[in-house]
Amino acid sequence: MKNIAIYPGTFDPITLGHIDLIERAARMFDCVIVAIAANPKKQPLFSMNERVELATQVLRQHANVKISGFENLLTDFAREQSANIILRGLRAVSDFDYEFQLAGMNRHLEPEIESLFLMPSENYMFLSSSFVREIASLGGDVSQFVPEAVVAALEKKYR
Ligand code: ADP
Repeated sequence: MKNIAIYPGTFDPITLGHIDLIERAARMFDCVIVAIAANPKKQPLFSMNERVELATQVLRQHANVKISGFENLLTDFAREQSANIILRGLRAVSDFDYEFQLAGMNRHLEPEIESLFLMPSENYMFLSSSFVREIASLGGDVSQFVPEAVVAALEKKYR
């Protein structure tokens, strides 16, 4: 049996924390699908196409990592992709409550898919896309938090 992990999120934009998690997962599973949610409720800074393109660009060298946008229910998308694992990241205790509820709901919707959690390197424990957007919008340097292509994309947005 192949282990196919789906890693869903908004990725607005993808950070080194996300990439740290994806690289850990790519060593453990046959295939990792980075599933980028349209998430119009969050009014993302980057369009879904831009988020997919950035992720594709920065993850190009990983042969068993696929990037895909999705607009439907995560458990339905996971089933379509034959994924048996939903992967999420846990940074601080503050992530736990929401992730616990999400994993519970997803288990009700699709009992066959297991939710698994990975912790990033401690360098990325405090990193979030929203902090990155805020720092970049105020002209701060985000090059230690995101890949070069994302630095450039943020500069373009906030120019
Ligand atoms: P969402 O809107 O679904 O929270 P995000 O793109 O913010 O989307 O996050 C996607 C997943 O990646 C979540 O499980 C989140 O906890 C995890 N994540 C975000 N930033 C980091 C990080 N720095 N280290 C590890 N996991 C992270």
